[in-house]
Amino acid sequence: MINNRQEILRPLANNLSDVFKNIERCKICGTLKSNNHPCNNCEDKNKKFSKICVVENISDQWAIESSSIYQGYYHILGGTISDSTNGNNRENLLINSLIERIKNDNIDEVILATSATVEGQTTAFYIQDSLKNINVKISKLAQGLPVGGEIETSDDGTLISAFKNRKDL
Ligand SMILES: [Zn+2]
Repeated sequence: MINNRQEILRPLANNLSDVFKNIERCKICGTLKSNNHPCNNCEDKNKKFSKICVVENISDQWAIESSSIYQGYYHILGGTISDSTNGNNRENLLINSLIERIKNDNIDEVILATSATVEGQTTAFYIQDSLKNINVKISKLAQGLPVGGEIETSDDGTLISAFKNRKDL
């Protein structure tokens, strides 16, 4: 790259700069969105779903989308409850926003699709507890995901099985 400053390094730097300037995390659902545009996931008035799938990271959303097993909204936590890097985890994970979305969008099912790791499962319990006073069905991905397995690295078959076998909480 250093040897090809003009041909490779400059366009790459410009692209990264554009990403930095134009892409941000949606403050409502946590997915990535373009600045100055409504969010594709949570603010598109043409989409009307009754389910929200809660995942840890944007790459988990992409993995589930590409498996085509699920049609619905996503809520991207941006990590787990144990990431204590910057203080107010509840705020960073957009838990209050999740509660608002469930109420405002008439959601009838929340699918907790956090990883089958200790952190992922602790986070799922935490969200389940946060939603205990809300009248909504909560389910969790079940069979198929290996213990310690992460959503983003799971193949389509495993994800499809985990979705089909999700259990009510
Ligand atoms: Zn959004």
